[in-house]
Amino acid sequence: MRKPDAAARAARLREDIARYDRAYYQLDAPLVPDAEYDALYRELQDLERAHPELLRADSPTQRVGAAPLSTFAAVRHRVPMLSLETDTSASLDGARAFDQRVRARLGLEDSDPPVQYQAELKFDGLAISLRYERGELVCGATRGDGETGEDVTSNVRTIRSVPLRLSGNAPPVLEVRGEVVMLRADFERFNARQRALGKTTLVNPRNGAAGSIRQLDPRLAAQRPLRFFAYGWGEVEGWGEQPDTQHGMLDAFAAFGLPVAAQRAVGVGAEFLADFHARTAAQRDALAFDIDGVVYKVDRLDVQRELGFRNREPVWAMAHKYPAQERSTRVLAIDVQVGRTGRLTPVAKLEPVFVGGVTVTNATLHNADEVARKDVRVGDRVIVRRAGDVIPEVVGVVPGSRQGEVPWFDLPAQLGGRCPVCGSAIERPEGEADWRCTGGLYCAAQRKQAILHYASRRAMDIEGLGERLVDQLVDRELVQHLPDIYALRAEQLLGLARMGDRSAANVLGAIEASKHTTLARFVYALGIRHVGEATAKELARHFGNLDALLAAGAQDFEQVSDVGPVVAASIALFFAQPHNRDVIAKLRAAGVAFPEKAVARPAQTLAGRSFVLTGTLPRLTRDEARARIEAAGGKVSGSVSKKTDYVVVGAEAGSKFARARELGLKLLDEAQLLELLGGA
Ligand code: NAD
Repeated sequence: MRKPDAAARAARLREDIARYDRAYYQLDAPLVPDAEYDALYRELQDLERAHPELLRADSPTQRVGAAPLSTFAAVRHRVPMLSLETDTSASLDGARAFDQRVRARLGLEDSDPPVQYQAELKFDGLAISLRYERGELVCGATRGDGETGEDVTSNVRTIRSVPLRLSGNAPPVLEVRGEVVMLRADFERFNARQRALGKTTLVNPRNGAAGSIRQLDPRLAAQRPLRFFAYGWGEVEGWGEQPDTQHGMLDAFAAFGLPVAAQRAVGVGAEFLADFHARTAAQRDALAFDIDGVVYKVDRLDVQRELGFRNREPVWAMAHKYPAQERSTRVLAIDVQVGRTGRLTPVAKLEPVFVGGVTVTNATLHNADEVARKDVRVGDRVIVRRAGDVIPEVVGVVPGSRQGEVPWFDLPAQLGGRCPVCGSAIERPEGEADWRCTGGLYCAAQRKQAILHYASRRAMDIEGLGERLVDQLVDRELVQHLPDIYALRAEQLLGLARMGDRSAANVLGAIEASKHTTLARFVYALGIRHVGEATAKELARHFGNLDALLAAGAQDFEQVSDVGPVVAASIALFFAQPHNRDVIAKLRAAGVAFPEKAVARPAQTLAGRSFVLTGTLPRLTRDEARARIEAAGGKVSGSVSKKTDYVVVGAEAGSKFARARELGLKLLDEAQLLELLGGA
């Protein structure tokens, strides 16, 4: 590069990196993914190396982190907190290069024995220094710019795994250094709750940890579960028998009660390091927290001292990074997927990007609110995260990446109000974040779930119709809709995995037996949202038979005890879907039936008559009165109108009584009601 070009480029890089540093270190709100930041940083380093005259004291390459925020008290580190030299080579060469460098600096010949190392995880969190005096935690500080950090003692004290007092024979002064991280599961849980509440989510666990530790209100910090892992130390005073190795120090920390990660190993030579790198890469997804690499450290402390520091980095240590778990890419489209339970999830179709070790082309946007909150639009550059076995997600838009006017994402409008798989109506129940398909019994996306639920023990109790079999039945199109299970034949089952004569006969027997069931089980088996076993029983008791249930509307469902407006609306919407009704009709045609109760059915003396109950009756509870009226064919409604035939009045009757009198309706007391019902 020509010199003026190089100078201009370097200036531009310094400016951009300084801006990214501020956002990342001070505001805990990164503007670009780490991998992109690292590339720019390396480019600046290379330029400065090629043109040393461009190097400036205020270049981001010449310091660690960023100045501490003035909202916290400043803590001056007596021993600076440094950074690590980083190798991003995806291959194992990084390990070999590091070993060679160490050997060269120590002046070792090929014939000299191998160097001993400790290999550790590189935690992806926030560096923290904990100062213990006479065993007691007196200060917790962030790294800041390495010289001066922020006093975050009160927040650090809320981390349960940080001992407030060290056990055993701790030295009079011990500064323990380590990383504060948020477990991935805690991060997911926190975000799920935030999403449900319609609140902003954390971008990633690192920012979760950094943001929590730098909360001004320790109560907020305490609400976000954090962990601490020790990996180093600063000032140490009066430690009589201080260990003389890196691993010995960490063992001693563990004995003092400090958390030290189990995943570390001691060994010799480059191959040991390369092996640790490879083994840890294989475990990375299974770890409970994010790591962005491994760290190699010369084990003997006297050798560490001999090697010393250069450019604010220890010469005796090196970070060897793994492929990034966050990258940026472009949104090509926003589609909507229907989940097993009918939940509609907006999904970003992406320009393919290699992230978290795989090529990602789809990433979840969770729900419509989340898309609106993050303001993701087609064409935007977005940061995609894929960590552990969690499905890839869009964590945010790269600021300033939008080109021109792009309409915002409107889920119901995009779908025309219909499920993209089955065409049933979609709904968004009040107070919920998700839109849903209401065609639960019919929708192909929900088929397996619907069948499994239908067959489950508390529903139709079809033993043997489990996940493995349902997968095969649906995948081979032997069963498309629920009623198809009643048409299954032995020869169809015999072709399936793990299906011998006997198992096939057993399953068919269980399917046949399920035809004789109770209305409560059947209603539960339909998998209506919000209708659990208890509600299904209430519905069965209240309506007595399926036809009455099918004839009812939202208002009628609200009359059922324990059914509120939300549940009533959900039931009504379910039965209003022609597809669902069709499935129910076919199940009945296939022979599913509900035997009459053993007791003789009362004569339908009140058929077509409508009742309203008000006040407290002397003997019957309201539910009992309702059940008796309904058993005799009458209908009980919640409000008085001209169409009401009888108003049953008890003690302390209220406005319904007044209204009934106004309309001149027929009033009954309990005795008269019982008479009408045909004796007590
Ligand atoms: P670093 O992350 O490369 O390494 C040093 C840090 O590693 C230490 O401070 C310590 O906190 C941590 N660490 C974890 N495990 C360790 C162990 N076992 N032993 C020793 N240290 C361990 O350097 P850095 O200076 O903290 O941060 C630079 C990195 O931060 C960049 O590589 C970049 O990825 C990221 N960053 C990103 C942006 C952005 O905009 N996305 C901006 C600034 C920095």
